[in-house]
Amino acid sequence: MNQRTHAWIAVRAVALLEDEGSCPELVNLLKPLVKSSAIGAWIPDKRDAKIGGADTDNHILKMAPYNGPQQQRFILPKQELLNKLGPARAMHTLFKEDTLLDETWWGNAYKADPQPGQHIADRASALTTAITDLLIMGDADLAELVPGRYQFAEQLADNCRTHSEQAALYFYMQSHFVADACMPCHCDARKLSSYANGLHKELEAHWSQKVGTYFDDEKLQTTDDTPAAILNKARERDAAFAIHFTNEIPELIERDVWLEMIYVCRGSFAIASIIAPPDQYEYGGGAYAPFEKVLEAKPDLLAKVDQVALHDAVLNVAVTWKYLWTRLYPKKQD
Ligand SMILES: [Zn+2]
Repeated sequence: MNQRTHAWIAVRAVALLEDEGSCPELVNLLKPLVKSSAIGAWIPDKRDAKIGGADTDNHILKMAPYNGPQQQRFILPKQELLNKLGPARAMHTLFKEDTLLDETWWGNAYKADPQPGQHIADRASALTTAITDLLIMGDADLAELVPGRYQFAEQLADNCRTHSEQAALYFYMQSHFVADACMPCHCDARKLSSYANGLHKELEAHWSQKVGTYFDDEKLQTTDDTPAAILNKARERDAAFAIHFTNEIPELIERDVWLEMIYVCRGSFAIASIIAPPDQYEYGGGAYAPFEKVLEAKPDLLAKVDQVALHDAVLNVAVTWKYLWTRLYPKKQD
């Protein structure tokens, strides 16, 4: 996903949290800082950020058929994936209705083998832990928002404590990895899904065009609009993707961000296999599946892919943020 799309997804997730209403303090952290901190949503794709992240390169979980030992571990039948995803995710509805991927496809073992720094689920899960630890040592302003009281934090020098701007930046950064998990080409090991092979870059450009220029890097950071107006601009873009949010943000089904991301990636891999069916575009084969042929020429499928990928990207960011924040709630009653 490109800069604009990452920015829109993150800002839209803040608006969804606001509309849902379960974490008002988190909205009070992220919303006022949207202009200065939403840059976090696209930092992980900046060239120098990739180098800084110790050769992290892209954020992927590219799956392919697996023939090694313990194959059973890497098979996930359709009904099991539907249960793991839950009904709130748009990909759940897509798979329920899909007839293209048959039982043989769902009965195969698939596995990804990314470098540790590239692993989407690792990155999203690592930030969940890191952000939680950083939140509980916030400075006085941040401590006002974070649920619970952490006495040890008061023993820290003020400049050692996390500032609200930093916390917000890290939340926006986390959104990047959760969103990348919803991009089908990030989860498919075939050459046709590589960045410059006719599908990946073009699909991302198509999304950018739909998101529109309002969410461009500099424009967003320098706009005179209020945070409330920026959130409204994000809500207005739903129509471009035919998205309707119910304003309910489900719990994390697996109670674990890493596992949840793995299931979302398996879903995105299945979508890549619907876009370019493996009986026509073999694993390990060299055939390309150009955007014009496999998506643009099939407007119904393209509209469905747009809707599912972008709906779920926003929802999954909100799900992950809500999970992280509400884990701090029980301590409030201490
Ligand atoms: Zn990325």
